[in-house]
Amino acid sequence: MKQAKTKQVLVAGGAGFLGSHLCEALLAEGAKVWCLDNLQTGQRRTLRKLEQDPNFTFIEGDVIDPLPARALPRHLDQIYNLACAASPPQYQADPEHTMLTSVLGTRNLLRLAEKHGARFLLTSTSEVYGDPEAHPQTESYRGNVNCTGPRACYDEGKRAAEALAFDFQRAGRAEVRVARIFNTYGPRMRADDGRVVSNVITQALEGLDITVYGEGSQTRSFCYVSDLIDGLMRLMQYEGPQPGPVNIGNPVELTVSDLVQQVLAMTGSRSAVVNMPLPEDDPQRRRPDIAKAEQLLGWAPRTPLTDGLRATVAWFAALQAEPEPARSTLNETRLSAG
Ligand code: NAD
Ligand code: UDP
Repeated sequence: MKQAKTKQVLVAGGAGFLGSHLCEALLAEGAKVWCLDNLQTGQRRTLRKLEQDPNFTFIEGDVIDPLPARALPRHLDQIYNLACAASPPQYQADPEHTMLTSVLGTRNLLRLAEKHGARFLLTSTSEVYGDPEAHPQTESYRGNVNCTGPRACYDEGKRAAEALAFDFQRAGRAEVRVARIFNTYGPRMRADDGRVVSNVITQALEGLDITVYGEGSQTRSFCYVSDLIDGLMRLMQYEGPQPGPVNIGNPVELTVSDLVQQVLAMTGSRSAVVNMPLPEDDPQRRRPDIAKAEQLLGWAPRTPLTDGLRATVAWFAALQAEPEPARSTLNETRLSAG
């Protein structure tokens, strides 16, 4: 029998929350994986499980800079672009860098895909819909983004990245896939990333006040990480005609207050709930319409919120009990760009 060729894959942003799970899933499928990350929000500790795998290479570098061609293989089959801080306080800390990461970084990676003939997947976001006036959000909805507000560096950066990706596709320069990811949670989120799931769980576990921004009546739809990664990989492998952007998320919608109550009940925490000012341009409602993903990819999330939250609470509890992070012995390449 003919031996299947080993797939060679670059994951930009592979040291982050989603990226580390993706690298792991690709390795489990037998791929060789190169992870390019500037460690801005990613952590070496998230890669600990991959440390011993000879098929995994870590490259420290910024996608804004010329890509480190010498550290990459001669041929890549697939490029996933996950590079970009995703939590509002993190992407707003250096908005110029966030915008450039999406625009210049995506351009650099698209050109790399063109050079290698690799398929390119962009992790875009539900934030392209801004504070949506249509509900739930279908891929055809063009969004309601404030292009001058504090979220614009992320939202408009991702919109520009999508535009670039489809321009490369139209020009026949690269074959692209665009996933619009909705709020995703699970083990390996950073305790200090400022997102609602990580904040609420760590606050509940430590007996600190639970910070609810605004009245807590705003809604989100939370997808468990393993479901999300499955959706991304199916989209990358999709062989039909150009599918356009595809929503990947869990359509079960709940208010932030509902989420807080579930976490309090699950942890048995007696933390008080305190209301804080609602951040500017915070979307009021968000829920994906996933009909396209269901039809094209045969994909739907399978993990109920209670199961996913339980696993996430357990992971944060174990993290708190851990001593200093063990020193990584990663198979690493450090390079200057070029
Ligand atoms: P994360 O912050 O944990 O991971 C992002 C990774 O990209 C980090 O490892 C970070 O160090 C790296 N990075 C950032 N800027 C970079 C740059 N210029 N060069 C190289 N590396 C860089 O975020 P995440 O939750 O894992 O999100 C991954 C991707 O998915 C992001 O592109 C994000 O926009 C998208 N997304 C995530 C969610 C979610 O709920 N997690 C929702 C929508 C979209
Ligand atoms: N949020 C909150 N308390 C927190 C962190 C966030 O009430 O400690 C709210 C935030 O205002 C938003 C929702 O929870 O309405 C989701 O926030 P997150 O930053 O996780 O994601 P995003 O706003 O990007 O969807």
